[in-house]
Amino acid sequence: MAIKNARLLHAVEVVNIGVSNGRFMHITKDLVDGKKVIDAKGGIVIPPFVELHTHFDTALTAGWPSFNRTGTLQEGISIWNKRKKSLTIKDVNERAEQALKMYIKHGVLSVRAAVDISDDDLTALKAILQIKKVYEQIIDLQIIAFPQDGLWKCFENQGRMRKALEMGADAVSAVPHLESSQEEGVRSLEYCFSLAKEYGSYIHIFCDEVDEVSSTFVQEVANLTIENGFEGRVVVSHVNALAYYESKYAESVMEAIKKARLTVVSCPLINSSMLGRNDAYPKATGITRVKELDTKNINICIAHDDIQTPFYPFGDGNMLRAAFMGAHLAHMTGEEPVKRVLSMITERPAAAFGKGKAYGIQERSEANFLLFEERTIRELMLNQSVPRYVIRRGKVIAETIPAYTKWGCSLQLM
Ligand SMILES: [Zn+2]
Repeated sequence: MAIKNARLLHAVEVVNIGVSNGRFMHITKDLVDGKKVIDAKGGIVIPPFVELHTHFDTALTAGWPSFNRTGTLQEGISIWNKRKKSLTIKDVNERAEQALKMYIKHGVLSVRAAVDISDDDLTALKAILQIKKVYEQIIDLQIIAFPQDGLWKCFENQGRMRKALEMGADAVSAVPHLESSQEEGVRSLEYCFSLAKEYGSYIHIFCDEVDEVSSTFVQEVANLTIENGFEGRVVVSHVNALAYYESKYAESVMEAIKKARLTVVSCPLINSSMLGRNDAYPKATGITRVKELDTKNINICIAHDDIQTPFYPFGDGNMLRAAFMGAHLAHMTGEEPVKRVLSMITERPAAAFGKGKAYGIQERSEANFLLFEERTIRELMLNQSVPRYVIRRGKVIAETIPAYTKWGCSLQLM
């Protein structure tokens, strides 16, 4: 395969890309040839997006059995608690497959999905493990064993989390801000670290997803990370409370995050919709301190998160939509900041996912890439287009024909 006239990120001139045996063989200004030749016409080529935080078990259940009227996390949990009583493997498989295809179409080829383990049969986990196997040649899927009802509040989840790891889950998780007390919140974190040590798994904590200045679990996660020698291997999602801390304390927490080399995941779509619902004005934006974390060179990432769930009624797997929202809420709309935002859905989550140096468009790496018609990052953010081509190991996984507007009248001034 050869891609002609493609524009690499940050490059002025176009290049030609030769792909052979699923790898980039040539990235050059010289002519390259192949059995299949795609003319990129100056369009941008980027590595596939990496989604570090989503859910397939809850996907596509919005309004089923009811919509979230208050838009809050609490009502979302209560609706999901009703819905999950009727889960079957077939039900989860069908919805997960649909959601997975949404991601693939939008150029996401690595996904970390949290699966609720708060039931004895682990139905959702069994279903998502099946999906992982079926799609393993197309998408890299990591599964977080996620105790939505807590590890102390729902004590049985401790045993279920262990079972989930034995069945093949890749990461352990906790929701310390939803436990009954600070002490139990910390204990839930300690349990995660002990299991991660035992099983060699990733740690991915749902952390401080509240509008309260008193929620300080991210500091506990940083402490435990250093105590256990897990630097660079722990992810914290949401971290909304950090936006509420007074500046001096926030600075010290961000220093702790940096020291522990935590990856922070912000989910601007759901966070901006769900957080701050009960606040009086002035209200926060709902997301964590993305810009400040970025300035400190902390591995801050943006995730899309929910796809039409009891927690968030929208979502279609388009990472650029999440990045666009993040750029606005974080005040990162300038030419340079927008480049940083794009890295929050590409190379930065790739690092946390464990992709290593092989991720990216370089000779001899696996030929995994997206081709867009847009020529700049600003245009990508503006249009939030579906990629023209999604390519994995040199094979076209998805091709989308762009929409075309045909005018029904003459629109010409002169
Ligand atoms: Zn989530």
